Amino acid sequence: DDDVAIQPPSSEQHYIAAVAPGAVLNLELGDPTMYEPFWRGVGPRATTVIPGSDTMSYFSDAGELCWFLEPEFERAVRRLHRVVGNAAVDDDGDGGGAYHFVVGNGATQLFQAAVYALSCDADEESKPVPVVSAAPYYSTNLQLSGHFRWAGDANAFTGDREYIELVCSPNNPDGAVREAALSSSSGTGKPIHDLVYYWPQYTAITVRAAHDIMLFTLSKITGHAGTRIGYATSIAWLWLHCFIALSDNQWLRLSDCRWALVRDRDVARKMVYFVDRSTIGVSKDSQLRATKILGVVSDAYELPRAAAAPPPPRLFDFARRCLAERWRALRAAVAASSGAFSLQEETSGYCNFAKQTVAACPAFAWLRCDKDGIEDCAAFLAGLNIVARGGEQFGGDARCVRVNMMDRDQVFDLLVRRIASLKIEQPDYL
Ligand code: PMP
Repeated sequence: DDDVAIQPPSSEQHYIAAVAPGAVLNLELGDPTMYEPFWRGVGPRATTVIPGSDTMSYFSDAGELCWFLEPEFERAVRRLHRVVGNAAVDDDGDGGGAYHFVVGNGATQLFQAAVYALSCDADEESKPVPVVSAAPYYSTNLQLSGHFRWAGDANAFTGDREYIELVCSPNNPDGAVREAALSSSSGTGKPIHDLVYYWPQYTAITVRAAHDIMLFTLSKITGHAGTRIGYATSIAWLWLHCFIALSDNQWLRLSDCRWALVRDRDVARKMVYFVDRSTIGVSKDSQLRATKILGVVSDAYELPRAAAAPPPPRLFDFARRCLAERWRALRAAVAASSGAFSLQEETSGYCNFAKQTVAACPAFAWLRCDKDGIEDCAAFLAGLNIVARGGEQFGGDARCVRVNMMDRDQVFDLLVRRIASLKIEQPDYL
């Protein structure tokens, strides 16, 4: 492809040579190559070796609901969520619930599976069930289906029949922390929470999310997008506890008195059916690799740090440092453009994982051209050999573009340099 000047490197050396100063910078996708130096630093401890006789069967555990889910992978995922505290995944009998896990070929497949699961048994009059999301939204190209249809911006949706709302938080493209835009109190709305960026490098971990369906992906946790491993949690049931009042503000929980509020086990079953019918499961090799990778991440935070040995590198610290520095540089470049550009506002919050207040470092910049005469920011940046995705593709404003903040250092440095020097190089526009 002639438009893509940056080819995947076979080594770092090769890569540095490939990014010429005038190269096309392709920041259109959310390729997370920023994580490569971290994993080079980890070295062989993150290597997976699979003997030729292993992982041959279609099945991982034929007796389980998700029969193609590798049990070690599920354990590694549950452990990481316990370490980070970003999502409820355990049946701890403490007001949380029990969750089914479904593994998929990226969060992309699981999104399709979830929409299918929530729509396939709708009344015939309700079909195809509208799928909405508040603009600007991450638009996946929905597969054609008789069960559901893409219906655009949630804030412009007026139907009173069944619908599905995709809630992406932090949001792609603008990093906003979101809740469902539509109230589902009428019982007609079913949310899917896309939490692929709800990790401490991108945002403050403020609550342990506990939604009915949550989507995550290795692509945005560790940067292993090419491994194509995503997973969904779907709630099986919630505990309800009973309390007795002692005085005005004091309640005693009767620990042996609790009921399981049974939810839709069916959702997980239908998602499994979808992944079965579309790809007959998910690569076990990839799941084993993901297990190893996630284990390395959790170990660095959980295992005691021996005084003698160099401490194992910590992924979330690395990625946060990297993104924080990039945001500082990009904000400075935008400030230097004297009003030609603006960015989403910086937000911050107390992070329960970092135990301090942290600024959000979104995975994408939502860059706006504010200069008169520029209606199409993507076209304007294309003139500078910067490829970014135009705002209208997110149901938003064409004066905005989404820029990937997770590419390699050299690409990001060139981006910042080009934006900072715009005033000098492009006097006609500015
Ligand atoms: N959801 C969101 C919000 C994303 O940004 C992405 C990737 N860009 C995905 C889902 C899909 O990720 P993957 O298929 O790589 O797991």
